[in-house]
Amino acid sequence: MNMKEYIDEAEAALLHTYNRYQVVLDKGEGVYLYDIEGKKYLDFVSGIAVFALGYHNKAYNDALKAQIDKVIHTSNYYYNVPAIEAAKKLKKVSGMDRVFFTNSGAEAIEGAIKAARKYAYLKDGTTDHEIIAMEHSFHGRTMGALSVTGNPKYREAFEPMIGNIRFAQMNDFESVKAQVTDKTCAILFETVQGEGGIYPAEEGFLKQVRTLCDEKGILLILDEIQCGMGRTGTMFAWQRYGVKPDIMTTAKALGCGVPVGAFLMTEEVGQHSLTSGDHGTTYGGNPLACAAINEVLDLFEHNHIIENVNDVGAYLSEKLDELVEKYDVFTAHRGVGLMHGLVSDKPVGDIINRALENGLILINAGPNIIRFVPPLIISRENVDDMIAILEKCI
Ligand SMILES: *Cc1c(COP(=O)(O)O)cnc(C)c1O
Repeated sequence: MNMKEYIDEAEAALLHTYNRYQVVLDKGEGVYLYDIEGKKYLDFVSGIAVFALGYHNKAYNDALKAQIDKVIHTSNYYYNVPAIEAAKKLKKVSGMDRVFFTNSGAEAIEGAIKAARKYAYLKDGTTDHEIIAMEHSFHGRTMGALSVTGNPKYREAFEPMIGNIRFAQMNDFESVKAQVTDKTCAILFETVQGEGGIYPAEEGFLKQVRTLCDEKGILLILDEIQCGMGRTGTMFAWQRYGVKPDIMTTAKALGCGVPVGAFLMTEEVGQHSLTSGDHGTTYGGNPLACAAINEVLDLFEHNHIIENVNDVGAYLSEKLDELVEKYDVFTAHRGVGLMHGLVSDKPVGDIINRALENGLILINAGPNIIRFVPPLIISRENVDDMIAILEKCI
């Protein structure tokens, strides 16, 4: 079948929850993807901040194949070595103390919400605790994660959400303070907002919120699902600010393509929240998923991924600034490391479609923002190639 025929079949069989780009992808190699007709694309999306190590990474593939030949799944009722090692490594790179593995980002958020509610429940014996989340945030599509997602468009048809969620403005400390009550159990935000348009938390804001949380006994939950795993130039984005969350979530690049997520917490929260029988998952942290995490974390270290993010990220940032200067359609650029948004004064869909025709994969973050979340192994040369194609599409 040709591409058009596959697309017609997809549209006849799959639920219409995505406006997909008109391409059927087939395989990948490094920072390139190929469609089923053999056309090559430079990838600046990496499956939305997932495939950090690039495609067809031999060490990663070999690690997965070896685990497949041993055992793919057992159950969380038994111990398995890949999960034990993955938890240990994740503790080390995050400085957090307790790990719960999930299958996705949304489930990591669900777990974080449950942990925060249980912590508050054990502390004061009451229920009805409140969580403060941010406008323009994105935390996933399950009911709990949707309830803390600050985009009414995603929520409206599915009301009622879980209760007692209040929204404040990212980087506006007074707006957060204004939502605090005696019932507040957690403040939740993405250290760098992704889907909402690439808005990094300001250092002052993060520090003020941390202090507020300490004063009031509120838990700080940072969502690192998109901005974590080296993307901003530190393993987790909060690590550059000198503050630490009580609970954090990770997913996307954690497994580099194998569906996995995690929520992590301090020992204090771990000892006083979820306990035996409170939470579970059939697949979460199974041997295959954890073999992926182990190899990903090893490769991050051996291949100096974070150094590359800092080097190439700074270069990408310069190049995007140049585009803002050069073209009137681009009004601003935000971002850090290899997570950037180029803001336009009009919808960017046409530019992204033209880029695809010209062999460059880009994606938006909101209608007017082109998002750049490439594999973390990209080179300066890849950035030059990307800019050259993008300039043709403006
Ligand atoms: C993608 C994303 C999620 C949801 O993750 P899924 O794996 O799609 O459920 C949550 N939070 C942030 C910040 C994300 O970018």
